[in-house]
Amino acid sequence: MPAPATFAVFCSTSEARYARDMIPEPTRVAIELALSYHKALPERILDYLINERGISHREIEFSLLGWNGRRITIPVWGRDGKLAFFKLAKDPGDTSDSPKMLTAVGTSAELYAWDRVRLKPSELIICEGEFDRLVLETHGFPAVTSTAGAAVFRPDWAPEFQGIREIYICYDRDEAGRLGALRVARLLPHAKLVQLPEEVGNGGDVTDFFVRLHHTREDFLELLKTAQPAQAADLVVPDRRPAEPKDVGDSEAARLKALVTIEHVIGQSVPLRPSGENFTGRCPFHEDHAPSFVVFPKTRSFYCFGCQARGDVLTYLMRRDNLSFPEVLDVVRRFAAEAQT
Ligand SMILES: [Zn+2]
Repeated sequence: MPAPATFAVFCSTSEARYARDMIPEPTRVAIELALSYHKALPERILDYLINERGISHREIEFSLLGWNGRRITIPVWGRDGKLAFFKLAKDPGDTSDSPKMLTAVGTSAELYAWDRVRLKPSELIICEGEFDRLVLETHGFPAVTSTAGAAVFRPDWAPEFQGIREIYICYDRDEAGRLGALRVARLLPHAKLVQLPEEVGNGGDVTDFFVRLHHTREDFLELLKTAQPAQAADLVVPDRRPAEPKDVGDSEAARLKALVTIEHVIGQSVPLRPSGENFTGRCPFHEDHAPSFVVFPKTRSFYCFGCQARGDVLTYLMRRDNLSFPEVLDVVRRFAAEAQT
């Protein structure tokens, strides 16, 4: 039984009318913005969320999913209860190669939804992606996700999971999902790994399980019974040092940059098209309607003609997922390891 999120309570109960006056101004503005997007949800988007995404009407209301005129808005509330940012999901009617999800510039990876962790449910599922989380909640499973994909789970989030007896990690059925799940398991050793069945296909996710394959809550409960903690051997990270930027010389960064192809790394999050010897795509750092974003394999760099964002593969990941330098090196190390296998 999902507990209503704080803001939903504020907005739907009568005593909340005056409680709202006691909310600090920036928070109130944020709630009102989320509410105005929510009220603007067109019927066709509502239909899409319910029928194609498998998210219940109730969950859509609790989570204040909305519409900003171009994209579906998913308000993400920070650990402090304030609006951190909106994730912006692609309009299902948009047939362009615009990214499926956008995050506003300058935002950090956040956990969606903190109120779930804080309630200390007896069981909690960590999944990969906001829509997957909402499908799980729809089926009565308390769930959270990192807003920055499978590769990012911040170590400082882990202590907040103390006191939750059963933690399940259910990431997509692909290599990125497997590696991401192990990364979480290293931080939460008592968590169990849930393997989605083969029928979801390569890259299949929780939404495929429930929506495309029409599985039920009972089916997912059965799946949870098969979950196992990670093997000790999988939890060992080779040459893991207490990473401080000063420990990691420029040479290490340069070595790693040479091991990965920038178009491959960026291509994971931005659809890229060849253009001469370069690649172009829609910029992930601003609302880009023309492909303004260019990746230059030769110089291993990128540049956006719209917002002037520029840099190399490290800058890209630091900015996109708001990672620290050591965290970025970890991510690039994994890309390099994949490239070598
Ligand atoms: Zn840009």
